[in-house]
Amino acid sequence: MSEKKKSSYRQKKALRGHTCSCCGRKTEFNWTCRCGFQICQDCMEENFWGMSCNGITWQCPDCGGQNGFGNQ
Ligand SMILES: [Zn+2]
Ligand SMILES: [Zn+2]
Repeated sequence: MSEKKKSSYRQKKALRGHTCSCCGRKTEFNWTCRCGFQICQDCMEENFWGMSCNGITWQCPDCGGQNGFGNQ
């Protein structure tokens, strides 16, 4: 839940192949849409102005669906 876990986190959870649909990198965490679109945290921050208008939900560029920030 918290965003403060960093070093001990990656040993527990091996990378399961999250691949960002935007930059193509494999990351530990991606925001995902039900349509299969994935975007990493870096790309989300870069495109935040275009993907979220309220900071609560982000809009999938593929299907246009609204996805909430936080655990679903
Ligand atoms: Zn990315
Ligand atoms: Zn989508």
